[in-house]
Amino acid sequence: MTPQWDAIIIGSGFSGLAMAEQLRREGSLRFLILERDQRVGGTWRDNRYPGCACDVPSHLYSLSFAPKADWQRRYAGHDEIHNYLETVSLPLRPHLRLGATVSAARYDEQQHCWEVTLQSGEVLTARFVMAGLGPLNRPRLPDIPGLASFSGPCFHSMHWPENFSLAGKRVAVIGTGASAIQIVPAIAPVVSRLLVFQRTAPWVVAKGDRSYSSWAQRCFRLLPGWRRLYRAWRYTAQEMRGLAFLWPALMRPVEIMALRALKRRVRDPELRRKLWPKGTMGCKRIMLSDDYYEALQRPNVALETEGIARITPTGVVTRAGETHTVDAIVLATGFLHTQTPERPLIQGRGGHSLQSTWRTRRAAYLGTAVAGFPNFFLLAGPNSGLGHNSILFMIEAQVHWIMKAIKAMNRSGARTISVSEASYQRVVTEMAQRSRHTVWQSGCQSWYLDEQGCNTTIWPGLSAEFWLRTRRFNPRDFNLEHHDRH
Ligand code: NAP
Repeated sequence: MTPQWDAIIIGSGFSGLAMAEQLRREGSLRFLILERDQRVGGTWRDNRYPGCACDVPSHLYSLSFAPKADWQRRYAGHDEIHNYLETVSLPLRPHLRLGATVSAARYDEQQHCWEVTLQSGEVLTARFVMAGLGPLNRPRLPDIPGLASFSGPCFHSMHWPENFSLAGKRVAVIGTGASAIQIVPAIAPVVSRLLVFQRTAPWVVAKGDRSYSSWAQRCFRLLPGWRRLYRAWRYTAQEMRGLAFLWPALMRPVEIMALRALKRRVRDPELRRKLWPKGTMGCKRIMLSDDYYEALQRPNVALETEGIARITPTGVVTRAGETHTVDAIVLATGFLHTQTPERPLIQGRGGHSLQSTWRTRRAAYLGTAVAGFPNFFLLAGPNSGLGHNSILFMIEAQVHWIMKAIKAMNRSGARTISVSEASYQRVVTEMAQRSRHTVWQSGCQSWYLDEQGCNTTIWPGLSAEFWLRTRRFNPRDFNLEHHDRH
């Protein structure tokens, strides 16, 4: 049986679109992108809370094959990034199926192809499956007693209701992570009262955001070499920071600078005490903000650090017994990342699911290939995230490597390719060993770590090393199988 498609890509966020565009450029593959929503964009479609923006420079947080000279700001906002993704998707429209939710993907060992089942019941077949499922799309809802009893609007930061205004309302924001520190400054000027519930004080560093002048944008447009140089400089500056994540002692000077800035920016000693971060900088994501501390010092804003005892129909009760009456609650409490989602169910050889393979440890060769899952590639999979640089750099490196792997397989006449068990286990060991002395395992709780406290999210090296490793496909690490044609 000839499969209907050469490749099926699941998801149309940055990774799905980058993969699809590469396939389109190669021109040889019949491929389909399946997107559950009615619009492309992944995380940048789903997250549209007030203040939503990227904390990676815009000229770097863009795909190398789709340069954009006219970024409005040094750090782009949500709308501009989502519009950019829509533009990137335009040539891919003929390959895109919207509203197509994948419920399962199963490797057919007789036909040596993948059977992809949609929620509608339709079954599609493909030689390859590339999964760009996105690491941050399942909200982590806090387990606070009484949460469900709250009578007003209460939603996760990713589920911000459309056309919903908090103007004049008393609002509680729970959490002080990367989402919350963008939401707080954006809503503080419009709400009547804002209570920010902090559990752990984050490390905050000035973002240095500003708009690009029309002159700068013209230079980027007219001088593509200059734009490329600027992007390379931005990349190098970000990459240098990576060293401190690998050798936490190097974080100390940055910590001292951040604490000095905290002293300068926050005048009230009591508030400053509450905001004083503990633990090593970088253990959790470093917050970049020019206006978070300032927003907390507005007269209508208060930082609550007592901890939440329970939620009532009308407000939040702290562990100290204080009751705060609020009209709305924003849960900026992060995402379930290291728990493998139940759906789509991905079944490889012998009916083993990705979910069961990852029960002991999430891992993938170069964040993309898993033993027992032939012709299947993850995008932005385990240990290919970054805390210091652009994730898009990693995704593009993976995409190029996947193309190399497919070409090597085609050249050899093989029908399937899968990472060998030995190579896969080598990756599991390497990631665990290399993560041991990094900042991510220096003692804090973060979404980078699995239940055993092991970093299964972030690449424990410089992104340049990852890029170097993806330059070459090493056939010795793979099983290339020929199988007789049926
Ligand atoms: P997060 O970084 O995981 O932060 C969640 C926050 O909620 C933390 O402050 C956490 O406190 C708090 N929290 C969780 N459960 C709680 C509970 N039961 N009671 C009180 N507080 C609770 O989540 P996020 O802010 O949504 O960001 C997630 C990731 O998304 C980021 O790390 C980043 O990779 C990405 N992101 C990126 C950008 C960007 O600009 N590129 C922007 C937003 C998000 P603890 O710290 O004590 O656990």
